[in-house]
Amino acid sequence: MFCYHCQEAKKNIVCDVTGICGKKEEVSCLQDLLMYSIKGLAFYAHKSLEFGITETKTDQFTTKALFSMVTNVNFDQADFVALIAEANQRRNSLRTLFLAAYLQKHALAFSASIPKEAQWQFDTISEEAFVEKGASVVINKDTIDDEDLHGIQECLLYAIKGLASLAVHARALNAENQNLYHFIYKALNFTLQAGNSVDSALAMNIKCGEMGIAAMLMLDKANTAHFGHQQPTTVHKDVWDKPGILVTGHDMQDIKELLQQTAGTGIDIYTHGEAITAHAYSAFKKFFNLAGNYGNAWQDQRTQFSKFKGPILVSTNSIQQQKKDYKDKIYTTGMVGWPGVQHIADRKPGQSKDFSQLIEQAKTCETPTLLAEGKVSVGYAHHALAKLLPAITEAINNGDIKHIIVLAGCDGRHKERRYYTQLAEALPKKTLVLTAGDNKYRFHDQDFGFINGIPRLLDAGQSNDLISIILFLQSLQKSLNLLHFNELPVSYNIAWYEQKSIIIMLALFSMNVKNLRLGPTLPPFFSANILTLLAEKFSLKGIDTVENDVVAMMDGL
Ligand code: SF4
Repeated sequence: MFCYHCQEAKKNIVCDVTGICGKKEEVSCLQDLLMYSIKGLAFYAHKSLEFGITETKTDQFTTKALFSMVTNVNFDQADFVALIAEANQRRNSLRTLFLAAYLQKHALAFSASIPKEAQWQFDTISEEAFVEKGASVVINKDTIDDEDLHGIQECLLYAIKGLASLAVHARALNAENQNLYHFIYKALNFTLQAGNSVDSALAMNIKCGEMGIAAMLMLDKANTAHFGHQQPTTVHKDVWDKPGILVTGHDMQDIKELLQQTAGTGIDIYTHGEAITAHAYSAFKKFFNLAGNYGNAWQDQRTQFSKFKGPILVSTNSIQQQKKDYKDKIYTTGMVGWPGVQHIADRKPGQSKDFSQLIEQAKTCETPTLLAEGKVSVGYAHHALAKLLPAITEAINNGDIKHIIVLAGCDGRHKERRYYTQLAEALPKKTLVLTAGDNKYRFHDQDFGFINGIPRLLDAGQSNDLISIILFLQSLQKSLNLLHFNELPVSYNIAWYEQKSIIIMLALFSMNVKNLRLGPTLPPFFSANILTLLAEKFSLKGIDTVENDVVAMMDGL
């Protein structure tokens, strides 16, 4: 096993025996073989594009398979066995189409060299055989010739997984982008080539960041088309007196269908983690049983799910080993999986998912145990931010706002993440804080107060809603008559955890954003030389002490 995909890699080096996330060696091997197989599929998918051959179902499958490998999404060996088999079958189908088209056009058979990833065939679908094959394709640090190139290409693979997750979220709302699928094939093909340089790999990463911007825009458009604009909303942290269902993850369509199916049943719906953004969408305001937000970010789920008492739906990611007292109440859906955990099947065309099993179970459950009281604010996506633009512009011009901090990203287990709570507390009162993602659970219950009636903390939503912050800052650049985006009085301090954060980092690089702080640790897959290169090109840096970082950020560093 060799996995350094996420911020929790053991000692910030590598998980090599078992995953800190709970990933077992067998699952890690299967994920490695799935990536190997998807690269093989991408080889023919990319080549087939030259002949206008595309298969929408294969494009959708590819993104789902890539999403399944994002940290904390799926731990079920059986799911990976099925995905590997399907990847190879789809690759063979594309190969047949490509070879026929090539022969027809060139009047001779295709004879270029074919990467081993595109040649692998299995005899039978067997978990044992797939694990064994997977073990043979695991990264071997001892055989890496060029640590710099390897690391930057690994970064690309992780960003592609993050990009694919955005595509899957958008697809759930019937939004697709062929260019995005085609880019994924192109980028995966790039990693199969010999002779790549660090410069060309970095350029492909930046292109991936551009696609990340396009994917976040697509998802935002789909969310607002289906659920209306986010509106500034107060969300309560306490509990009501009826049994509830808790939803964690990102999928708004799942929440909508659950709300529809529980309306009038006496069951309340609570949000957990990044699902908190549901409270802000105008389409959900009519559901009186959307009760509140329960608990904190994903890493606290084992203690908090135990206290919830009712069923829990994990819609898109962030599942952990369950404790006994809620194991029979947890359900996965979409690409999420855990061996033995009940799975809600995908919706059939024109139909909703069937949540009746959760609803019937919820009716037999106690009410949730109170974890916290108080309230937090959500809903400052681009629509609400645009309304604040004149006031924020004026406050910057007259010195009432000195600086804006984009304090966004993912939460995680490391105790060093207390930095984000302490940083939020230490920021001067004349700073505005823009956030997105679940890192906000580190500070969103603090009393930030107001500047000239503008809330000092503005939560744009989920990690992908960083696009709202970017759109707002682009408008602010215009209203302040600044020539360059980097002239804005803005610092970016992003907490990373998994592959969605990597696509966000690359999205910011693709906009040439400078002085990005990434923490609590820098990615383990970047070599010292790559970190130096990124520091030179983008002034990328890790976090320092709270005191030093506050001073540096106020100075625009
Ligand atoms: Fe370790 Fe992260 Fe890989 Fe899990 S995903 S095995 S925690 S590096």
